[in-house]
Amino acid sequence: MTKVETDVAIIGAGPVGLFAVFELGLLDLKAHLVDILDRPGGQCTELYPEKPIYDIPGLPIVTGQELTGRLMDQIKPFGAEFHLSQMASALNREADGRWKLTTDAGVEIIAPVVMIAAGGGSFVPKRPPIAGIEAYEGKSVHYAVRKMEALRGKDVLIAGGGDSALDWTINLAPIAKSLTLVHHRDGFRAAQHSVNKMRELVAEGKVQFHVASVKQLHGTDGQLESVTLAGADKKEWTHACNAFLPFFGLTIKLGPIAEFGLNLHENLIQVDTARFESETPGIFAIGDINTYPGKLKLILCGFHEAALAAQAAFHICRPNEKLRFQYTTSSSNLQKKLGVA
Ligand SMILES: Cc1cc2nc3c(=O)[nH]c(=O)nc-3n(C[C@H](O)[C@H](O)[C@H](O)COP(=O)(O)OP(=O)(O)OC[C@H]3O[C@@H](n4cnc5c(N)ncnc54)[C@H](O)[C@@H]3O)c2cc1C
Repeated sequence: MTKVETDVAIIGAGPVGLFAVFELGLLDLKAHLVDILDRPGGQCTELYPEKPIYDIPGLPIVTGQELTGRLMDQIKPFGAEFHLSQMASALNREADGRWKLTTDAGVEIIAPVVMIAAGGGSFVPKRPPIAGIEAYEGKSVHYAVRKMEALRGKDVLIAGGGDSALDWTINLAPIAKSLTLVHHRDGFRAAQHSVNKMRELVAEGKVQFHVASVKQLHGTDGQLESVTLAGADKKEWTHACNAFLPFFGLTIKLGPIAEFGLNLHENLIQVDTARFESETPGIFAIGDINTYPGKLKLILCGFHEAALAAQAAFHICRPNEKLRFQYTTSSSNLQKKLGVA
């Protein structure tokens, strides 16, 4: 267990969670963000990194990936802490009235305010249809790489044809004892430069590639010893490996937030439009996860919600301090915080 204390715990590092860090930072409020994905950006980086967005004020055209990069630059001065590849799994009240947000990696974030910027929910990996795979999950079957070192010296099998499968094939090849990639066809959805790199590694004998599918897992107590692979011609063979990483895409589920005891309406959190707070004091909801009359699921609406929620959060975090409205253009105090004065 790692316990940290901060002003605001943010669930979701999508565009709205990221911009909340900025608005909170201007008010001297520190934030910790939790996201189940291994990188910030939410839908923008996961669903449409290369697609242009045309309705971000002041940016006539920007891709999902570029917008995320710009937001990350903008929040740099505020030193937010990221807890990536972690699910925000429980929310409880502490005896002193603050909230304890717990992640599935054992991190506890204690804060007077929680901002839920969870979008359509958490991106969770698709489980391949292999009988009994649950028994190996978290031990020798992993849907994300949390620590590369844990795979050092292992016989690693990766399945999939997208960016995650190819990126991890390339990144793990130098540290794994052996690395084998399987995909049901000799064609990939991943970026072309990753495919080229993987083929180079195959040509150099550093990676093995088979057009095949994983049919069965063999091992004891969750520790994988081998798998049965089936080729395109349905011929089966046994392949020895002690780590299996299936990358078959992600689906979106509301997940543990449904159990937080909040006022949900059709899986969305109802908020007021002055503070963007739920019916539970101190729990705010901004971006695609919230609902109110006239709600539009647009990034710019989420940015506005983040600004107002941050102001309301200030009064909870600093009950004895006055909040003075200031412009970034003219306030030397704000400019100092931004590191530009
Ligand atoms: C194809 C496509 C095109 C789009 N084009 C536009 C456009 O042109 N203009 C526009 O304004 N909008 C557009 N949108 C919508 C826009 O992407 C969303 O409005 C925006 O991403 C919402 O941001 P968010 O931060 O609220 O949520 P998200 O981007 O959904 O981020 C939420 C994050 O929270 C994480 N999360 C959720 N629950 C948990 C949990 N329990 N633990 C840990 N992490 C969790 C998720 O993994 C995710 O990373 C588009 C959407 C799509 C799919």
